[in-house]
Amino acid sequence: MSLNWSDLDWPEIQQEAVRDLQQLLRIDTTNPPGRERAAADFLAERLREDGLEPVILESAPERANLVVRLEGSEDLAPLLISGHTDVVPAKGDWTHPPFDGVISDGYLWGRGAIDMKNMVIMCLWTMKLLARMKGRLKRTIIFAAVADEETGSHMGSHWLVDHHPDMIRAGSMITEIGGFTLHLMGRTFYPIQVAEKGQVCIEMKARGDAGHGSMPKPKSAVIQLARAIELIGRKTLPLHLTASQQDFLEHLSEHLPLGAKQAFSLLQTRWADYLLNVLPESQSGPLRACLHNTVSPTVVRAGDKENVIPAEATAILDGRTLPGQTGQDLLRELKALVGDHLEFTMSDEQPPIEPTNYNTDLYRLMCQTLQRYEPSAIPIPQLLPGFTDAKAYSRLGMQCYGFTPLKLPKDLSFTSLFHAADERIPVDGFKWGVKVFTDLVASYAGIKTH
Ligand SMILES: [Zn+2]
Repeated sequence: MSLNWSDLDWPEIQQEAVRDLQQLLRIDTTNPPGRERAAADFLAERLREDGLEPVILESAPERANLVVRLEGSEDLAPLLISGHTDVVPAKGDWTHPPFDGVISDGYLWGRGAIDMKNMVIMCLWTMKLLARMKGRLKRTIIFAAVADEETGSHMGSHWLVDHHPDMIRAGSMITEIGGFTLHLMGRTFYPIQVAEKGQVCIEMKARGDAGHGSMPKPKSAVIQLARAIELIGRKTLPLHLTASQQDFLEHLSEHLPLGAKQAFSLLQTRWADYLLNVLPESQSGPLRACLHNTVSPTVVRAGDKENVIPAEATAILDGRTLPGQTGQDLLRELKALVGDHLEFTMSDEQPPIEPTNYNTDLYRLMCQTLQRYEPSAIPIPQLLPGFTDAKAYSRLGMQCYGFTPLKLPKDLSFTSLFHAADERIPVDGFKWGVKVFTDLVASYAGIKTH
């Protein structure tokens, strides 16, 4: 006999999920070097306890990707749920050690608590619970716990797409980043990621007069490069309003008080940059990133001796392209800003993602499920300025979403926790997320949850 969803012992399941997250946080998967094997082994063991048959695929020694699936009875497009098990290095001062899985003050602390071992555990529990619903699945559900997202997914999702596409092929895919509370002017918004910016690496090189440091050269490579970098810091590239960003601004302004509504309407016009320039950086930064192609100088190299003026100076720019834009478009805008006397080389371009229509059955189910568990929730579509495994999965034509439900208190900014010291997750907010996420996937798989 199999269980009904409503018969599940939720307090016990949520408590177990918290313990699993503690365990997973204690496995140090700092990338580089990654070493996600131990995390995959831990997940595999937990999955096998419910009769599931996970497969572990190593893209390199210790770089493990886990895939597990449950077949549905009907001919529906499968859903892939995916989380990366690697984390960024835990630098800075931490209140609690980053790999101890400490619970204190209502929070579970650790590198990966938000990015994104929390969702890996939500996916783990989704599969465990679906396995207990024996034979009732209509839609096939696949879970991939992947390596290497934090350095570009080459050993993780991109590798799976290249080497084992049939194991993960699906109609839709859910990963980070979305589904968290965004408190704004008394409203509780829940952004759901529907689009994602692209990425391109640009090397910007200046060449100039070399010579002895005692005889300054106003046109030296370093000075030319510095001028270009100064311009990048002071100006923005041209404004572009993409469809998903327009939807985001419209949905947001619809629910805001009058004054804010007007400001957000201004952001949908060619006057947006004027408004962005007067807003505090904490507010304008994310909005600016979603309205422009951007470049961030991240690595600068020149010279190797204090009294020699070098002939070359190079900056590596982390370029991000809006949906509808290419690396070439960005480069054209960049040259118009800094001049084309410098040399530019582009590499590692990953195109942006923006579906023709994000408002699918799955998207509407995300909105409904959020509102069932949080009646004041206002779901809004979101363009992510960053990078997720969606870059890889979209290559197989999957419709990608970012949805990791998480209820946050007013005094905690979600984005400030990413890659920062003291990364932590509110235990109650995580438990809530486990329930929302498992319910969403179970419903989409055709199981009656309420
Ligand atoms: Zn992440």
